Amino acid sequence: MITITDISKWYGSFQVLADCTTAVEKGEVVVVCGPSGSGKSTLIKCVNGLEPVQKGSINVEGIEVTDKSTNLTKLRARIGMVFQHFELYPHMSVRENLCLAQEKVLRRSRDEANAKAEALIDRVGLLPHIEKHPGQLSGGQQQRVAISRALAMDPIAMLFDEPTSALDPEMINEVLDVMVELAQDGMTMMVVTHEMGFARKVADRVVFMDDGRIVEDRVTDQFFDHPESERAQDFLGKIL
Ligand code: ADP
Ligand code: MG
Repeated sequence: MITITDISKWYGSFQVLADCTTAVEKGEVVVVCGPSGSGKSTLIKCVNGLEPVQKGSINVEGIEVTDKSTNLTKLRARIGMVFQHFELYPHMSVRENLCLAQEKVLRRSRDEANAKAEALIDRVGLLPHIEKHPGQLSGGQQQRVAISRALAMDPIAMLFDEPTSALDPEMINEVLDVMVELAQDGMTMMVVTHEMGFARKVADRVVFMDDGRIVEDRVTDQFFDHPESERAQDFLGKIL
């Protein structure tokens, strides 16, 4: 579903990604990990065209993201993205946060958008809070709203960039639980995270990055039990 072929990217003269190649099959969960500054966020942003690449190609379900003539707005509407800082619209209620793009981008009726919003918010246990504004919710609740908002667009895949790293420890699991459920429902997911318990539990593969390169791209158990590179061994030694 997502094919990344030999991409390289520079910020000015600084090379942030170097010859990265990987793929995510339909229904697969791929965890991307690696030290801070290794290019994980950049890689994931390239997938939905939030960042251009200077070399190589990215294809999402037949759509050439790196082709200049591709309508990225349309593509982004079909790929859900969840960031570290929830990025909800602060001046809107949870309900409005979930309805806005459904109505404006997908042209759903108010009733249809509302029904979808309520069903999704109920699934993450927040229906009693649907009329509240993001500022009235905890970080964990806001992140669950952000995930629901992305799901309201019926995405073909979900991209996560450290969705739990801004949360207080006691809220991490309530967000991971939602992601585990999503993975088990068969959602195609690319997840930047340091939550190795989550990776062990649901990832099909782990991509390990260092210095803009994909150093390892392995089946989850193999990555954890027999990391090949010294850098991955080092990384795992520090965080496990
Ligand atoms: P990670 O998510 O793995 O921490 P990033 O993809 O955010 O890494 O960043 C990789 C490298 O690129 C870092 O050295 C960072 O400082 C640099 N970088 C990120 N964004 C920009 C930018 N807009 N301009 C210049 N350098 C950037
Ligand atoms: Mg990052």
